[in-house]
Amino acid sequence: MKLIENWFSERYSDNLELSFRIKDLLLSVKTDYQRIDVFDTYDFGTLLTIDGTVQMTQFDEYVYHEMITMVPASFLNENYSGKALIIGGGDGGAARRLLDVGFKQIVNVEIDNHVVEVSKRFYPDLASSFSDPRVKLIIGDGIEYARTTSEKFDIVIIDSTDPEGPAEGLFSEEFYANVEKLLTDDGVMVTQSGSPYYQPHALKMAVSGMGKVFGSVRTYVAFIPTYPSGFWSFTMGSRKGLGKVRELPTGRYFNSEVLEGCMKLPEFVKKLINEIT
Ligand code: SAM
Repeated sequence: MKLIENWFSERYSDNLELSFRIKDLLLSVKTDYQRIDVFDTYDFGTLLTIDGTVQMTQFDEYVYHEMITMVPASFLNENYSGKALIIGGGDGGAARRLLDVGFKQIVNVEIDNHVVEVSKRFYPDLASSFSDPRVKLIIGDGIEYARTTSEKFDIVIIDSTDPEGPAEGLFSEEFYANVEKLLTDDGVMVTQSGSPYYQPHALKMAVSGMGKVFGSVRTYVAFIPTYPSGFWSFTMGSRKGLGKVRELPTGRYFNSEVLEGCMKLPEFVKKLINEIT
């Protein structure tokens, strides 16, 4: 009998793709917003893709989720109120980490209920955050929420898909201006800003839009094996610049040395940023 190998591939350019050898396709659903697939892979456990792009895998999600939460949380002052807003993040991973580091009230606005349901089924540890009384899940458009809410938050986390489709507006200056109004005086906003190597436009959109709104904009990077080129960026905005560092527990990726080093950027990334600012 001839065995057929199955693979999922994400295309990075016309000439390069990353392929996962898969054991099985566990789910495939087309929602009002996007297509969601879940695969069982050999090397990375359960893989979630949206519109054919890797969102997270069971084995390396901790890098992204620690870095998008613990880095900005390190710069809050000791008297912070413990309130956070997450836009996107329907898998529950960002909320999970914020709960783990002591946040008391989290609003999570995700546009697509199916992402939440899929996560409850395939990533129950992450989605457990949605049954915690400290987390309020709102199914709705984060752009609209940021425009209309009068609540204030210590951190606002944009845990979004790439700047296409429903997430495009999450990379706009108008959206960042609305987010700025939701922050407490010393508050910090952070967004994932793509692969500096394969998606320089995402980083440019984030840095240029946030630069028009915030007094201080800082990009940092992390190694995420299953994302394009394995090298990922996040960008933080604050009114007065980042404050004193507050010590957080060591994670599986995050530690005090990573915090110190993640803002030291390679020359090609600095050049991309300098072209904008
Ligand atoms: N946390 C994940 C990881 O480990 O990389 C990936 C990102 S999460 C699945 C991205 C989410 O952003 C998706 O579930 C998507 O539905 C959501 N999203 C996109 N546009 C949105 C919008 N305008 N408002 C709220 N959520 C949005």
